[in-house]
Amino acid sequence: MKVLKFGGTSVGSAQRIKNLASLIGDGEQKIVVLSAMSGTTNSLVEIVSCLYGKQTGKAGQLIEELEEKYKKVVEELFVLPDFKQIGLEIIKEHFGTIWNVATSEFSANQEKTVLAQGELMSSAFLHHYLQEQNIPSVLLPALSFMRIDKDGEPDDFYIKENLLRQTESCSEMPLFITQGFICRTSKGEISNLGRGGSDYSASIIAVAAEAGEIQIWTDIDGMHNNDPRYVDNTQAIAYLSFDEAAELAYFGAKILHPLSIRPAKLADIPVRLKNTMTPDAEGTLISRRKDGKGIKAIAAKDEITVVKIKSDRMLMAYGFMRKVFEVFETYETPIDMVATSEVAVSISLDNTSHIDEIVRDLNQYGMVEVDCHLSIICIVGDFISGRGGIAAQIFQSLSNIPIRMISYGGSDHNVSVLVKQDDKKAALMALNGLFTDVQVNL
Ligand code: ADP
Ligand code: ASP
Ligand code: MG
Repeated sequence: MKVLKFGGTSVGSAQRIKNLASLIGDGEQKIVVLSAMSGTTNSLVEIVSCLYGKQTGKAGQLIEELEEKYKKVVEELFVLPDFKQIGLEIIKEHFGTIWNVATSEFSANQEKTVLAQGELMSSAFLHHYLQEQNIPSVLLPALSFMRIDKDGEPDDFYIKENLLRQTESCSEMPLFITQGFICRTSKGEISNLGRGGSDYSASIIAVAAEAGEIQIWTDIDGMHNNDPRYVDNTQAIAYLSFDEAAELAYFGAKILHPLSIRPAKLADIPVRLKNTMTPDAEGTLISRRKDGKGIKAIAAKDEITVVKIKSDRMLMAYGFMRKVFEVFETYETPIDMVATSEVAVSISLDNTSHIDEIVRDLNQYGMVEVDCHLSIICIVGDFISGRGGIAAQIFQSLSNIPIRMISYGGSDHNVSVLVKQDDKKAALMALNGLFTDVQVNL
């Protein structure tokens, strides 16, 4: 069994949905995890934000525009009148839900219901298109098995039990179609795994189904060695270890949801990144295999904030760090980078929802400064088995860019630097030169 996830662009039009049938209809058993059609979740987010802002007129206009777009998809996708009718009923049901939320008293927990409609529609379209093509498939409702616990973590036991009950009851079926991104909370309310969460859904499902491989199909031929949105001439990487891929995903390589590699690593399930536009290209294989030396790839994560605590009480004192870290723990705020000196400690974070409380509590330990709009640039590779000099090359390349913080030696495969967000693009471009230089110098 394989789990194949197709992202927004891979289901982004009627033609793309049709193309999927040829990629998945080879008779080999698979679970296909789908995102919403590209642009849909963004539109739904916009609709929800209008509803929050009580701009019901604008929300209504956006819903109408989206509904029109979907009617055109149905018209192009299906040939037979009965199937066109089914397509229109799918639209009626899901837009009915959206209109219902939009025209009644809006409450925050309805937000997730609106956001879920994109994945529900794309998966229903593919399933019924397959039926029209006489390709047997089963539609598995993700809301019947994908559940998170009260800490937001996947409820592995529940997921496995409820997923397998359904797949095993039709074990002769070659194709199961389900939705990425969406889930239920432990209270049964509709929720989701965060933006880009379909990749995470795919790996959670693969672990539950004990799949032999996860394939993430997207609009690029695998993980590139630098961010293609900011740098030209980036190259696809053939092999990455789980740790390298997890690090790149966590530090901003948008091709993978930040948490999607961990479940695959723990269950030792290889992850293949593939391009729907060029299905024959090799893509990237992520596995436990460690391969190559030196710098492999660079990624960047934006909107990082640094909190600096300056205190004479740090000098020769023990227990100071614990007290500082406890503040972050109290407000459930993860820390990314840490730099310490005898008189100050700087801590970087990307979740600032409790920054005011954190600063207030830290004030009792010293003088606190907050610096925003920074980017972490993460350089990933195998730095231990490579020869020395890598740090020197990194900092040489960045000689014209002010660096706010450095993390080196925290792991064997990551060097991170913190720069101003405005300097990010220049930093990524400067570091791109390292790929050719490093090959020569190693
Ligand atoms: P999907 O909708 O299929 O989930 P995403 O937009 O989430 O696709 O991810 C694919 C995009 O990730 C690419 O189009 C590319 O612009 C971006 N991206 C950012 N960093 C990288 C990287 N290092 N390698 C490949 N793609 C990257
Ligand atoms: N549709 C969701 C999003 O746009 C989930 C995903 O595409 O992975 O964030
Ligand atoms: Mg994505």
